[in-house]
Amino acid sequence: MAAIIDGKAISLQIKDELKEKAAALKAAGTNVTLAVIQVGSNPASCVYVRNKKKGCEYIGIGSLSYELPEETTQEELLTLIEELNARVDVNGILVQLPLPTHIDEDTVIRAIDPKKDVDGFHPQSVGALCIGQPGFVSCTPAGIIQLLKRSGIEIAGKECVVLGRSNIVGKPMALLLLRENATVTIAHSKTKDLKEVTKRADILIVAVGRPKLVTRDYVKEGAVVIDVGINRDENNKMCGDVDFDDVAPVCNAITPVPGGVGPMTIAMLLNNCIESVKLQG
Ligand code: NDP
Repeated sequence: MAAIIDGKAISLQIKDELKEKAAALKAAGTNVTLAVIQVGSNPASCVYVRNKKKGCEYIGIGSLSYELPEETTQEELLTLIEELNARVDVNGILVQLPLPTHIDEDTVIRAIDPKKDVDGFHPQSVGALCIGQPGFVSCTPAGIIQLLKRSGIEIAGKECVVLGRSNIVGKPMALLLLRENATVTIAHSKTKDLKEVTKRADILIVAVGRPKLVTRDYVKEGAVVIDVGINRDENNKMCGDVDFDDVAPVCNAITPVPGGVGPMTIAMLLNNCIESVKLQG
């Protein structure tokens, strides 16, 4: 049976380390502050935003909350971002996605000062990651690297397959694994012989948004399986993109859903807030 990678415990360890860093920055006169903007009241977004604020409280940094009505115009949102870009007392700006359909997400992401882009979604942040320069890294993939490292799983030289090629998970995940000297393959919905490709993986990262798509016939015996998915199954129970019960007996280590990758995303957002001070220095 596989070892269960405990994202909750590892994220707590990281948050406790960040608490100390936040206290040291405070003692040196810097009160790190994250501004969180939410437009509308998507129920999942409300939960994420609440957890982000709780995370700030836990590590002892400030958070400013902007809960804007659904009918907020793109111009109004851009004006607020400009104001926050200019404020020296704001270190990080996060716009909770998805945005209502009358607002163009891409334009909004580009409006955030790359020095305050703690989500790591700005094209400049992505470009910096691609060419190995300092910048913010998308939180979920950064959290997965921490999960692997802190679980004692070697990445260098390993065959890694990333299933999914989204801008916020799959692509930055592949770049980070490459930075860690893995041999990386990205697979997606047009990949031929998908199971043959995923079965090559020593480390398989799954981010497809399809409940329990990955069963044991996608997995090499003894692989490490990281499940990014957050879905609801037929009984409305939270589940990942991996069929945990089917895959766990054949792999070496696996993340559960919930309690695997999810808690790491917030921990890495908080880490980016602390790191922002260096980037802004
Ligand atoms: P997207 O929908 O943006 O991307 C999904 C990717 O999976 C696409 O590249 C798509 O391929 C590929 N894909 C879809 N179906 C298949 C299939 N049947 N076979 C092979 N590839 C397939 O999703 P995200 O990357 O944003 O998110 C993925 C999952 O991770 C979701 O469940 C999401 O909720 C979760 N998530 C969890 C986070 C966390 O903190 N734990 C954070 C972010 C996301 P193609 O490009 O060809 O269409």
